[in-house]
Amino acid sequence: MKIRPLIIIGGGASGLAAGISAAEAGVPVLILEKKEQSAKKLLVTGNGRCNFTNHCLTPEAYYTHEPAFIGRFLKRFTSDDALRFFRELGMEAQLRENLAYPLSMQAQSVRLALTDRLKALNAEVRCGVNVTGIRRTPEGYFEIRSSEGLIQAEKVILSCGTPAGVKDKEPYTADRMLVSLGIHLYPLKPSLVKLTGKEGCEESWDGVRSRCSVTLLDSEAQGKAASSDLGEVQFTSDGLSGIPVFQISHPASEQIEKKGFSMLQIDFLPDFPEDALKKRLETMKNSPYHGERALSDLLTGFLPKKLIRPVLVRSGIPGGSTLQALSEEKTERLLAALKKFSYRAEGTGKAESAQVMRGGADLREFTDDLESRRIPGLYVTGELLDADGKCGGYNLHFAWGTGILAGKSAAGSLLNKPYDCK
Ligand SMILES: Cc1cc2nc3c(=O)[nH]c(=O)nc-3n(C[C@H](O)[C@H](O)[C@H](O)COP(=O)(O)OP(=O)(O)OC[C@H]3O[C@@H](n4cnc5c(N)ncnc54)[C@H](O)[C@@H]3O)c2cc1C
Repeated sequence: MKIRPLIIIGGGASGLAAGISAAEAGVPVLILEKKEQSAKKLLVTGNGRCNFTNHCLTPEAYYTHEPAFIGRFLKRFTSDDALRFFRELGMEAQLRENLAYPLSMQAQSVRLALTDRLKALNAEVRCGVNVTGIRRTPEGYFEIRSSEGLIQAEKVILSCGTPAGVKDKEPYTADRMLVSLGIHLYPLKPSLVKLTGKEGCEESWDGVRSRCSVTLLDSEAQGKAASSDLGEVQFTSDGLSGIPVFQISHPASEQIEKKGFSMLQIDFLPDFPEDALKKRLETMKNSPYHGERALSDLLTGFLPKKLIRPVLVRSGIPGGSTLQALSEEKTERLLAALKKFSYRAEGTGKAESAQVMRGGADLREFTDDLESRRIPGLYVTGELLDADGKCGGYNLHFAWGTGILAGKSAAGSLLNKPYDCK
């Protein structure tokens, strides 16, 4: 059987980046991709605009069991490196605050930059090939079991990503492949995902999108804010979604796993400091017009209409009450419901609705070039590794960087010894 020098399993973000760096070094590359098209997920990233890196990368933006690895990685592959990589592929970028997008603001530009370069390098991208198993032969090669039969390779880069955001007929197999090779894997769980829970979740707010801050309360630390984010929250009949919720979903889902729930606090008026809001309500209370308006009407000047009922129900105040009729205690309850609305999350959305998965291959088992310490010649890249970033281009940055480093390293060791690439 012909032995290929390098096979990359998975033609997504990190697999294509790995293919380019290995092919540019002069190694013949074969990429096996199970979908009918490579890098399909890229097209939906950043709402179709692809936020492909971040100008302000810090290790704190990533969750992992091995933070030191991330620190070293970010020194070896910076945001300037990511911008340069795409510039050399002919794709210009623009920064929106610290978030980098293609100048065209179309994810398609990122995908084309990668696939065109691979074509020019004569790298073979074989789509519609599902890999189901991998084993090391006694001779030291890798035997890959796929829907096209057995293929052998001298080096393998596993770039299969995770089931996040994927609706697939075939089951996801990359985690099992790693385990069968003896690699330790932290279980894959949805992250950058909706948080669910019926308690404290009002039917009436379904469909509302409103700028709020969301804070994760760590009850073990007696209400100390563990993580917080500000932005547009999407309210649904079974939970909360939107970027601020995604940003705290990793620690929240860990708490849910541990304790069965996670307490969040929503500030419906994040741009109105509590003191200023209190003063404003007092002034309105003393106004003959506002003081006598039903609260269900008066609050439309502050909140989307569908959020008013949950706020009043939580404060225990009937909608027909007026500010003038509110006792001091009820006014405090109203302020608390507006600024510190508690929400109990008891679950997360499914993998297919998540942007990434937490967990993955244990980074301690890999060199800084992403080569397995126990199985030389096997590399793992991208989201399949135990590192997941917040929203903001961190995950794709990790995918490009780990792909490029693995591709270069695999090519380097292949080129240092003679091999038959025909
Ligand atoms: C809706 C959405 C929006 C996102 N937006 C952003 C964003 O704006 N910025 C950002 O940084 N990140 C974003 N992400 C996350 C980012 O897309 C991923 O972290 C990144 O694509 C991971 O790269 P990867 O190479 O590890 O995996 P992928 O890009 O998922 O590629 C893996 C590839 O392997 C293939 N594959 C899997 N199993 C097999 C198999 N057995 N045989 C053959 N092929 C296989 C898959 O079909 C896939 O093409 C978003 C994710 C989603 C779902």
